[in-house]
Amino acid sequence: MSYNWEVNVRKVDPYTPGEQPSDKNIIKLNTNENPYGPSEEIKSVIASLDDDMLRRYPDATASQLVSELARFHEVSEDRVFVGVGSDDVLGMCFMTFFNSDKEILFPDVTYSFYPVWAEMLRIPYKLIPLKEDFTIDVPSFIDNGASNGGIVIANPNAPTGICLDRKSIIDIIESSPDSVVIVDEAYIDFAEAGASVIDLTTKYDNLIVVRTYSKSRSLAGLRIGYAISNPKMIKYLNDVKYSYNSYTMNYPSIVIGSAVIRDNDYFEETLAKIKNTREWFTDELKSLGFKVLPSSTNFVFASPQDGSARKIFESAKEKGIYVRYFNLPRIDDYLRITIGVDEDMKKVISFLKDFLTT
Ligand code: PMP
Repeated sequence: MSYNWEVNVRKVDPYTPGEQPSDKNIIKLNTNENPYGPSEEIKSVIASLDDDMLRRYPDATASQLVSELARFHEVSEDRVFVGVGSDDVLGMCFMTFFNSDKEILFPDVTYSFYPVWAEMLRIPYKLIPLKEDFTIDVPSFIDNGASNGGIVIANPNAPTGICLDRKSIIDIIESSPDSVVIVDEAYIDFAEAGASVIDLTTKYDNLIVVRTYSKSRSLAGLRIGYAISNPKMIKYLNDVKYSYNSYTMNYPSIVIGSAVIRDNDYFEETLAKIKNTREWFTDELKSLGFKVLPSSTNFVFASPQDGSARKIFESAKEKGIYVRYFNLPRIDDYLRITIGVDEDMKKVISFLKDFLTT
């Protein structure tokens, strides 16, 4: 007898995450992790985790973490939502807020998980092409303002690294008062001070800002993300979350994630180091003839003079240097290179010098 259960399967083309090689000697600059590990203070918090934290269910509301984040961002606790990395938070946002027949809008070149969630959840979407210089085409978002099902903007954008100015974000939000605008600030800590729009969540009732611990906070392995919005939107998000999985935040994440927020000096110190290395690395790439987009993130998006991005990617990999290459329209001659420690970035430059002269 043959069964045709496959017709009922929710078929999806999954997101492809960057490779996670097990070899520790690899210079790993392909997934925008932070090269600086947790501080000594955080290591001692990790060492203090006890058996109960594994034996018991965690607090479903993750109230300790929510309260630290609320204090840090100077907002009330009912304006904070936490999740298992910002991927979880963003996925929840798509599920909660994009539930109409209207198309949601996001740029054609952006975080490649957005179309995957849209496809998986059967949300119609429309790509708004970036301008020639890879900046966001604000007028096109505004033109589509009256009739969209939602808007998603990564700011700074990925993989371009380019930051959109505050006024443009305000114009986009104001042009779409009837749909939810998600601003994904995964990399915002590496941008100029004042680039975040978290403060605007008190002014606009359709804005939600999503953040992660994976980049600036050095904790990609722990999986913590969060969103800040108004109490009404956070309540809607929590209603969906509790209808899906109540215990998303594990105990160690709640405890370590809370301690990391209090450890601000170390955070500022590592941010400054990464930004300095980024400036040095950008200058070096430019002197090798690369076009480098202005980065407000912990990576650079760069294109070699002679169209050899793919070859560089492959040759670097053979030499144990992993960077990210996207074989996609418009960006197939670019490399996305995460900023690592100075020593590793010097090795990348010396590899590139060898590659370009042989
Ligand atoms: N948003 C953007 C723009 C990203 O690049 C990433 C990292 N892949 C994420 C969200 C998700 O990060 P995480 O789930 O580790 O918080």
